[in-house]
Amino acid sequence: MIEKIKNLPNVDVFENTTLINAEKVKDNTFTIQIVDNNNNLIHNTFCSKLVLATGGIGGLFEKSTNQEIATGDGIYIANKLGAKTENLSYIQFHPTGLYQEGNVSFLITEALRGSGAILKNEKGVEFMYKYDERLELAPRDIVSRAITTEINQQKLPYVYLDATKIDKEIIENHYPNIKKECNIRLGLNIQTDFIPVIPVQHYSCGGLKVNEYGETTISGLFAIGEVASTGLHGANRLASNSLLEAIAFAKFSIPLLADNIVVNQYSRSEIEISKFLKVEKTAIQKIISRYGGIIKSNEGLNQAMYQLLEIKLKAIESDKFSLSDFEANCILETALLLIKDALNQKENKGVYFNTDLT
Ligand SMILES: Cc1cc2nc3c(=O)[nH]c(=O)nc-3n(C[C@H](O)[C@H](O)[C@H](O)COP(=O)(O)OP(=O)(O)OC[C@H]3O[C@@H](n4cnc5c(N)ncnc54)[C@H](O)[C@@H]3O)c2cc1C
Repeated sequence: MIEKIKNLPNVDVFENTTLINAEKVKDNTFTIQIVDNNNNLIHNTFCSKLVLATGGIGGLFEKSTNQEIATGDGIYIANKLGAKTENLSYIQFHPTGLYQEGNVSFLITEALRGSGAILKNEKGVEFMYKYDERLELAPRDIVSRAITTEINQQKLPYVYLDATKIDKEIIENHYPNIKKECNIRLGLNIQTDFIPVIPVQHYSCGGLKVNEYGETTISGLFAIGEVASTGLHGANRLASNSLLEAIAFAKFSIPLLADNIVVNQYSRSEIEISKFLKVEKTAIQKIISRYGGIIKSNEGLNQAMYQLLEIKLKAIESDKFSLSDFEANCILETALLLIKDALNQKENKGVYFNTDLT
C-alpha cells in the first residue's frame, strides 16, 4: 500500500515529519505547522481539509502495547482548535502484557488462555474463579480488573500466566513467536516457566468526537482510526474491530473530503514557532497509570487533576523547539482531558470502572 501511495501523482508523502499545530485561518482553510524530524526545521502549509490519523494514546501510561509515537498528538492539536473529545477515559487494557522494563509491552495473546493457560497469583494459586464463572475466558475488562485486584493484594507487581500444561505441539505450531520473545526478553521457557504478566494500556475507545463521515465538531477537520470516537466500540471494544473501523470511516469520509479541495501551497517561510512547556512525561505517565487506569476512584481522579494542573502551572516555556517537548505537551493536555472525562462519567460501563460509582 505504501508503494502504491508513493507512486500516485497527486499525493505528496512527507516522511519523518510531525504535525505540531493547526489553526483555522478562514472558513475553509487551515494553516498547519509541520516539523522535519531530520533537522527540526518548521514549515508552514495550508489545506482546506485536514485528516488526523495519529493513532492512540498509550504514551499517557507507564505501560502500553502501543508504540512510543502514541502520544495523543491529534487530540492535542484538535483540542486547541476547539474540537470536542468524548469518552477519553474509556481505555481498554490488555490483561496480559509481558512484565518487563520499558514503556512498550510485548503482548501475550489471549489465544494462549484460550488454549488452556491459567492465571496464577504470586503463590502460584489460581484466582479467576473468584471473579467470573468464565474464568480465564472472561472479557478483557473483567480479567484486567481481576489481575489488578490480585496485584494490589500481593507483594509482586505482576501475576503469572501458566502455559506449562499446553501441549508442546500447540505451543510450537501456534505460539512460536511468544515462545521466542519470552525467551529473548526474559530468558524464559514458557513450556516449563510461568510467564509474568500485567494488564497494559491497549486501545482508546474514545477520542475526537466524529460524525458518520469522520468529521469532528470543527468543519473540515476529520479524525480517522484510533484517534477518533465514532461510537462504534461503545464502552468496550471487541478485539480486532479497530482496523475495520478505520477502513470503514476512511471510506465514509470520501464524499466530504473530495469536495472543495484547495491545492496545498507549501511554504518554507519563516514562521513563529509554537511555544511548548518543559514537562517531564514520566511524571504524567505515573499519575495517569496510578489514578486513571483500570480501577479508579473519585478521590484518585481529583488527586490526578490536582497533580497534573500543578505540573502545568509550574512548568516553564522552552525557548527552542524539540520533538520531545511537543510530545510531552500532547501527553499532558490529553491526560488532563482524560481525567476530566473520567470525573464526568456517571456510571460504570464496559472498560470504565470507578469504585465510587455503580
Ligand atoms: C500489539 C497490538 C495488536 C493489535 N491487534 C489488533 C488486531 O488484531 N486487530 C485490530 O483491529 N486492531 C488491533 N490493534 C489495534 C490497532 O492496531 C490500532 O487501533 C490501529 O493500528 C490504529 O491505527 P491508526 O491508523 O489510527 O494509528 P497508527 O497505526 O498508530 O498510526 C498513527 C500514525 O500517525 C503518526 N503520527 C502520530 N502523531 C503524528 C504527528 N503529530 N504528525 C505526523 N504523524 C503522526 C504515527 O507516527 C503513526 O504512523 C492492535 C494494537 C496493538 C498495539
